[in-house]
Amino acid sequence: MELSYILNELAEDRTAYFNAVAPPIMQTSNFASRTVAEMRHKLQNETESDFYTRGNNPTVRMLEQKIAALEGTEEAIAFGSGMGAVSAAVLSQVKAGDHVVCVKRPYTGANKLMRHLLPRFGVEVTMVDGREIQNFFQAAKENTTLFYLESPSSFTFELQDIEAITAFARERGISTVIDNSFASPLFQSPAAMGVDLVVHSATKYISGHGDVLGGIVCGSRERINRIFLSEYMTLGAVLSPHDAWLLVRGLRTLPIRMERVAQTTRQVVAFLQQRKEVAEVIWPFLPNHPQYQLARKQMRNNTGQFSIRLQADTLEQVETFCDSLQHFTMAASWGGYESLIFPVAASYTSGGFKPSLPFTFIRFYIGLEDAEYLMRDLEQAFQKMNQQPF
Ligand SMILES: *Cc1c(COP(=O)(O)O)cnc(C)c1O
Repeated sequence: MELSYILNELAEDRTAYFNAVAPPIMQTSNFASRTVAEMRHKLQNETESDFYTRGNNPTVRMLEQKIAALEGTEEAIAFGSGMGAVSAAVLSQVKAGDHVVCVKRPYTGANKLMRHLLPRFGVEVTMVDGREIQNFFQAAKENTTLFYLESPSSFTFELQDIEAITAFARERGISTVIDNSFASPLFQSPAAMGVDLVVHSATKYISGHGDVLGGIVCGSRERINRIFLSEYMTLGAVLSPHDAWLLVRGLRTLPIRMERVAQTTRQVVAFLQQRKEVAEVIWPFLPNHPQYQLARKQMRNNTGQFSIRLQADTLEQVETFCDSLQHFTMAASWGGYESLIFPVAASYTSGGFKPSLPFTFIRFYIGLEDAEYLMRDLEQAFQKMNQQPF
């Protein structure tokens, strides 16, 4: 299916809505039946019927069908946040007594799910360094039902060899879930590499404007229908029709946004690599990165996130650099217009809490601004940092 068709026409039936060019929003909580027989039919075919918006809604369906097409899966199901999607996907694959192997240091919410919530319900979790496929294989046990991947991963952008890990899992009857948010639906297609369930925080690249929370799970019709009837309807973390509509709108510009982000990020990374104030740029798309070949093999292009380690001895230097940036915004999340930084230093507390990453570590997201504009901002912030007396 062609990309241009997916983003505009697919699942949009204009004739049903006064031939409006932009799709409508079905802002309704429920749908009427004319006869008892019709209502009975809807109740018996819940996965296909418009009955109640905690189940199906046409605007949400539009988004789901487009993203399923982008990910190359039979079906997709949308949630009110990325964590709603991650939690439903994971919970759909486990029961008490099961064992999960999860990549080390996934997104904060997924980390809490694995470390705190699953164990409360009798599910055991082993966290492994996913850069070595052997770690996944060795951690697998008789009762392992799920491998959880996030590639590239949060903050450190470590990759897992998706094909090798899913091939092993399939042989053992172990399900695989991947968080594909950092790659976007355009630059990595995990389903084609054998992954069973592909998850996105739609809040990020899919929205593209930093104004909606959403999540999506993509997979076979059988798996998605099972999630629909259980985790989706029961936990109720559904997406509102209005937010689905905003995400459909965001999708229309996804390819041009991703292309722009990819290009600007290459320029900014090249600039940072030249700077003496930067000890290291952590980005799998640099030819000297140990996972460069794997990145080339399983991703179509680079995205807009990387981290740096500042060449700094004190927390004050790091703070001076970050506080001096005028165009980069300091905030969580990413995927919108604005370039962002997330300094690990913000997680260091006077109470002595130290995260597992060094205080010199800063995560970047490059947005849609001009590269020159961003580099000038970095330049002046480096100068302020250098002027600081030791
Ligand atoms: C933001 C994010 C999530 C969670 O998404 P929300 O929409 O904030 O719930 C999950 N995984 C990754 C990789 C993320 O960046």
